[in-house]
Amino acid sequence: MKNGVKFNRRNFLKTSFLVACFLPFLQYCSKAAKSFILKISGANYVLGHQLWAKNFPKPTGTSKHQYIIVGAGITGLSAARFLKKNGIGDYVLLEMENHFGGNSSNGENKFSKFPLGAHYLPIPNKADEELKNFLKESKIYLKDDENGEPIFDEYQLTYAPEERLFYKNEWQENLIPQYATSEKVKAEFQHFFQLMDDFRKKKDSEGKFWFDIPIKNASTIDEVKNLEKITFKNWLLDNQFHSEELFWYLDYCCKDDFGLGTDFVSAWAGIFYFSARKNDWSKKYDGHVFTWADGNARLAKHLSGFSENKILKNHLTYDCKINENDEVEVLVFDNNSKKSKKIIAEKVLFATPQFVNQYVFPERKKAAESLVYAPWLLATFQMNEHFGAEEELNWDNVIYGVEGLGYIYNQHQNTDFNTSKKIITYYRSFSSKNSKQARRNLYKMTDVEMKKLVFDELKLAHPHFEEMVEEVYFHKLGHGMISPVPNSIFGKEKDFLKKDIDHKIFFAHSDLSGISIFEEAFHQGIEAAKKMLQ
Ligand SMILES: Cc1cc2nc3c(=O)[nH]c(=O)nc-3n(C[C@H](O)[C@H](O)[C@H](O)COP(=O)(O)OP(=O)(O)OC[C@H]3O[C@@H](n4cnc5c(N)ncnc54)[C@H](O)[C@@H]3O)c2cc1C
Repeated sequence: MKNGVKFNRRNFLKTSFLVACFLPFLQYCSKAAKSFILKISGANYVLGHQLWAKNFPKPTGTSKHQYIIVGAGITGLSAARFLKKNGIGDYVLLEMENHFGGNSSNGENKFSKFPLGAHYLPIPNKADEELKNFLKESKIYLKDDENGEPIFDEYQLTYAPEERLFYKNEWQENLIPQYATSEKVKAEFQHFFQLMDDFRKKKDSEGKFWFDIPIKNASTIDEVKNLEKITFKNWLLDNQFHSEELFWYLDYCCKDDFGLGTDFVSAWAGIFYFSARKNDWSKKYDGHVFTWADGNARLAKHLSGFSENKILKNHLTYDCKINENDEVEVLVFDNNSKKSKKIIAEKVLFATPQFVNQYVFPERKKAAESLVYAPWLLATFQMNEHFGAEEELNWDNVIYGVEGLGYIYNQHQNTDFNTSKKIITYYRSFSSKNSKQARRNLYKMTDVEMKKLVFDELKLAHPHFEEMVEEVYFHKLGHGMISPVPNSIFGKEKDFLKKDIDHKIFFAHSDLSGISIFEEAFHQGIEAAKKMLQ
């Protein structure tokens, strides 16, 4: 996953005249391919799938809390932070995995941490005071300078060389194909970015931006909603875009943020990608993003600081109802003790995805089934000292024309790790019309198949890749992220799924915003916690 969001016309113009920096391409040759260690993990879908069967033991033991939050991903952790900051101490978070963070979690080996999902946060919009406060608490945003410009901790920002694209058999700087493209192609890119600049500024008669983050602040006028009715691809064609390079680039961007490409996401989503971020908080850091070796697990850790000893891991919530005393009863399976228990609260927040909630609240199944989730495969490699020895690895390394989204060099920010071994993470979403089938295929995929899929791509840019691999760690995410297909953001189903039950049971998750990004999860948590306190 990369930072395509940071591209705008200005950045494109700035870089399109640079001579691409072609670093010597690695010529490492080893005598024979060696064996390496292979590991497979994934969101705990075995435990999760028990929600279908519901053959859990009868609850033994009951406890009480004022509030329960189900799910300790960014949304749940953000809600908990809000409760704590507002003087509430009696709450508990129930998390089915053995760790918190959800899709913002990480793995680690002896050379580096690495992300198991989200790995960067773009610089927020200037108007997003809540997020700015959180970044200040977390010592990412340090203070303002004498001109009122923010000063960030630069160790938590990307720095050069940030991005490169393997295009026409060479690495070029920047992800937009530029080297050896025609003037016509360049003009199309410029025209596209000009349009996106215009969309970024557009406001409705109430002063709301057409596109904004969080989405709840954005305009809902018909002109905006109409962009949800067609695919991004059709919108591009309607607007006379034709160049192969532009279509590849936009497809890459959509897969990167939404899991599905331009054929499947709405025009609203495609335009949102480029125009919801206003790039208006800091000129100095324009184009940079926040990132860490452990990815956004770092942000999850900061959020979790508000919930010390309140997160019950390995606790799967499988039932919920309002009892005769007007309290909410939640049934939980503790995967440590293999026992079920009942927890009673005044109010409960489900910060869990809708494909889970449908098994706890069967009346929500039909609406939940209308949501589309793209499956993802991540592969983290431990590479020997020869990898990257004669070339400069960038933070983000993308290969033109393939299905995968390239790889991130996880040690890019590290100054204190032993970097003789390189730890990189490859990202691949499965973009298709039928995400359910793609998910089934992913679950069935063997280690040999995954290896082939990933290696075939990476070998295009690194012919001796396989010989340099020491360890590979595959991570499957069946329901990786919500995908903004046409009519999903403003659809009726979404409104229904967002509604609380009797002001006792609440729902918040990035999938209810329709876009799977940190900022949406963070704000979803805050909004839900505010409602619970009313
Ligand atoms: C491959 C990938 C890359 C991504 N990259 C980025 C990125 O670079 N930047 C970015 O901003 N965003 C990225 N995202 C989006 C990321 O998902 C969001 O930023 C954010 O982490 C979503 O948080 P959430 O709390 O809404 O959801 P989740 O992460 O889904 O959290 C839900 C939590 O609920 C728990 N849970 C589910 N069911 C139950 C149950 N029955 N009982 C108890 N607990 C339960 C889950 O285990 C999980 O911890 C990426 C997503 C993926 C899949």
